[in-house]
Amino acid sequence: MVLDDLGSSLRGTLDRLQGKTRLDEEDVEEVVREIQRSLIQADVEIDLVMELSDSIEQRALEEEPPGGTTARDFVLRIVYEEMVDLVGESTDLPLEPQTILLAGLQGSGKTTTAAKMAWWFSKKGLRPAVIQTDTFRPGAYDQAKEMAERAEVTFYGDPDADDPVQIARDGLAATEEADIHIVDTAGRHALEEGLIDEIQEIDAVVEPDRSLLVMDAALGQGAKDQAQRFEEAIGIDGVAITKLDGTAKGGGALTAVNETDSSIAFLGTGETVQDVERFEPNGFISRLLGMGDLKQLAERVERAMADTDTDEEDWDPEDILEGQFTLKDMRHQMDAMNKMGPLDQVLDMIPGLGGGIKDQLPDDAMDVTQDRMRSFDIVMDSMTEDELENPRSIGASQTRRIARGSGQPEERVQELLEQHRMMERTLKQFQGMGDADMQRMMKRMEG
Ligand code: GDP
Repeated sequence: MVLDDLGSSLRGTLDRLQGKTRLDEEDVEEVVREIQRSLIQADVEIDLVMELSDSIEQRALEEEPPGGTTARDFVLRIVYEEMVDLVGESTDLPLEPQTILLAGLQGSGKTTTAAKMAWWFSKKGLRPAVIQTDTFRPGAYDQAKEMAERAEVTFYGDPDADDPVQIARDGLAATEEADIHIVDTAGRHALEEGLIDEIQEIDAVVEPDRSLLVMDAALGQGAKDQAQRFEEAIGIDGVAITKLDGTAKGGGALTAVNETDSSIAFLGTGETVQDVERFEPNGFISRLLGMGDLKQLAERVERAMADTDTDEEDWDPEDILEGQFTLKDMRHQMDAMNKMGPLDQVLDMIPGLGGGIKDQLPDDAMDVTQDRMRSFDIVMDSMTEDELENPRSIGASQTRRIARGSGQPEERVQELLEQHRMMERTLKQFQGMGDADMQRMMKRMEG
C-alpha cells in the first residue's frame, strides 16, 4: 500500500536530521513537505492532509524536545502521535453477545470480512453465525457458505429466496444458539437509492448493536461520499478496511474514518478467513512509519505455531535441536511460515528490517517463495513415511517415482531435497550458538 511509502520517505528525511539536537524552521518544513507529499500520493483527502501537517509543524516548532532526545526522535514521535490521533481508537467491540451489520459497495469485501470476523470471534471463544442476505450478487451464497465452513462457524442463507429482509429475519431466528450474529448485506456497484433503501429495511429488522462499513483500501477520493451516505442511512460505528495486502493506497479509508467520526475495527490482509487483524492504532501507525510492530509479529507466530501443532502428532521440536532435521520438520516450518501470512508482511513487522531488506529483493521474490512452498508440499504428499524421515536415502529411482506420483517435474523434487540440506546446514550453525550469541543477534535485529 502506498501509505507504506510514508514510512520510507519519512525515514529518508529524518535520517538527514541525524546528529542534530535542535530543529530549525527549514528542517521542520522539509519534514512536513515530505509528509504532505506521501499522504496526497496515498489519496488522503487534501483538507485532512493540511490539517495533519499543520499540527505536526506547529508542535515541532513550538514544543521543547525533552532532554536527551535527538531531533529525529522528537519529530518521529510527534508524527506518530498525530497519526495515532487521526485514526483514533479501535472500534469498541466487546467480547459479548451482539449483532453486527456489514454494509458496503459490491466487491468491497463484505462477504469475506463477515467470515473473517466470525473466525476472529470464534478464536475468542464466542459462537458466531454468519447470515448471508445478499440476493443480488450471483455466487454470494455459495461463497459465504464455503467461507463460513472454512471458519468453522454457523451459517444461514437461502439461495432460493429473493427478499433479503425476510432472509435476515429468518436467519436471526434460525441461529438463535449463536451469540454473535454477523449479517452480510448486498452491495451495488454504486450508491443507488435501491441499495440504501434495502439496507435501511434490513437495519430496521436486524436492529444491530453495531454497523460496520466495509471499505476497499483502494478507494480514494470517493471514500468521503460513500462514508457519508452510509452514515446518514444507518449510522456507521466503525470501518473494516480490506485488501491492505495489495497495492492499494489506503488513504481513502483514513478519510472515511475521519468523515464519519468513526473508527477502524478490522483490517483485512488477504483472501483467507485468517487474514484479519483487529485494528490497533499504535501498531498500525508504527507499521506505516516503518517502526516495526513486534507485538503483532509475536501474536502471529504464536497463532501459527498453535495451529500447526495440532495436525502433526509425532512432531517433536526437540529432535531438531538434537541434530535430526527431517522433511517432516521442514514441512512443519513451512506450514508455520504459511500461516503467519505473506512473507513480505511478516518482514514488515520486524523492526529495523522495515523497507531495507524488501527493497533489496526483486518484486516477485516473495510470491515465488510461497509458490515454491506449495509445490514442495505437493511433492511431500507423494513420499513415503520412511522417505520423509530419511530424505538422504532418496535416490534417482525414488525421485522419479515421487515426481510421477505428485505430477511435479523431477527438478522440483531435487530442489526440495537441496532446500532441506540447506536448512539442515543452517540449523547446525545455530546449534553451536549460546544464549549470549542469540541475544546479540536479537539486539542487532532490533536495530
Ligand atoms: P462483497 O461483494 O463486498 O461481498 O466482496 P467479497 O467479499 O466477495 O470480496 C471481493 C473480492 O475481494 C473477492 O475476490 C475477495 O477474495 C477479495 N478480498 C476481500 N478481502 C480481501 C483482502 O483483505 N485481501 C485480498 N487480497 N482480497 C480480498
